[in-house]
Amino acid sequence: MTLMLLAAWRLNTHIPGMKGWTLAFGCGLLVCLNLLLRGSGHEWLMVIMTQLSSFLLAWLNLAAARRYLGRRALPVLVGVGCAVMVLACALYFTLLESNQGARFLLQSYTAGLLFVMAAGQMATGGVREYPARYLFAAISGGHGLFLLLRPWLFRLGEHGMFDSHGTLVVSHLAVVESIIAVVMLGFSVVMLANEHVTRELKQMADRDSLTGAYNRRAFLVLLDQLTHYAQRMRFPVSVLLLDLDHFKRINDTWGHQRGDQALCHVVGIAQQCVREGDVIGRLGGEEFAIALPNAGPVEAEQIASRLRMAMASQPLHYAGHTLPLTASIGVASWQAGESPDSLMNRADAAMYRAKGLGRDRVIMA
Ligand code: GH3
Ligand code: MG
Ligand code: MG
Repeated sequence: MTLMLLAAWRLNTHIPGMKGWTLAFGCGLLVCLNLLLRGSGHEWLMVIMTQLSSFLLAWLNLAAARRYLGRRALPVLVGVGCAVMVLACALYFTLLESNQGARFLLQSYTAGLLFVMAAGQMATGGVREYPARYLFAAISGGHGLFLLLRPWLFRLGEHGMFDSHGTLVVSHLAVVESIIAVVMLGFSVVMLANEHVTRELKQMADRDSLTGAYNRRAFLVLLDQLTHYAQRMRFPVSVLLLDLDHFKRINDTWGHQRGDQALCHVVGIAQQCVREGDVIGRLGGEEFAIALPNAGPVEAEQIASRLRMAMASQPLHYAGHTLPLTASIGVASWQAGESPDSLMNRADAAMYRAKGLGRDRVIMA
């Protein structure tokens, strides 16, 4: 599994967290080596190696999960502090007061807690959107819970709740569970990498690379879905079609780069004016469309006016100059049974009427 993760990391170095998971599995390898070499060296050395690699494995798993999600990195000092505390306790229960049970408890609880915390971090974003995250959370959480319960199971055996055969079954169960957890965790990390790459590709296919708005194809697909949904659920949908006024002049006077900046600026303003769930698309050049679910003609006209005024009040500033940006906006509200094409055509016609009437205005279809 460590080799498989190493390969997955080297092939996807840009995916956050992959390095951490590979290192975590490297620590898992050390835990396994320690188990194999048990009894063949100094006890305190074995204890240090086992406790440290087991703690690091769980800590790196949590750190990688946070990194994958783009969350703030765990403070290194806290990690070092915890590792020192774990080692100090382990050495105390080895050199000063030899107690194997206490060391087992220490190892199980620290790792168990960290695995459960990693699961809590990863279970976010919705299971339909991010199934691999929830798979990882289930495996990491399940393993963490087992580690937390493991000492209790053994204690039942020690108190005579099991015969010697029962205790043996528990210790075998612990080994088998660890093997299953490691294999499943490794595969779920690979699936997380796959989910990340899939989303990147989808993002590239759906978004305009300059402004980050949906591209024409993706916008029309979303509008089609929206009108179908509106037909079934009977809610209103409106579309704003927006063309920047005299944009050629901006390019001619200030250069293409400034023109590009102006396009991003306009999308930024549009994002401020719309609600969550509204869809902003760049149809091409300096022409944008905004689909507004749950907005009838009155609300759509209000949003369009708000957008027009926001653009007027937020010109682009460049090298001490103010570049005013205005737009002509056509608004059309979807009528039951109407095709998305017809809706877009009506918004387009309204936008051209706005141009004809002198630009910088909102016209309803
Ligand atoms: P009108 O008010 O009639 O819409 O005038 P306009 O100059 O905006 O209209 P027109 O459609 O004639 O010109 C659009 C210009 O937009 C032409 C092109 O130079 C510019 N343009 C299109 N795509 C881009 C782009 O990606 N970046 C930049 N900087 N300019 C673009
Ligand atoms: Mg234009
Ligand atoms: Mg145009």
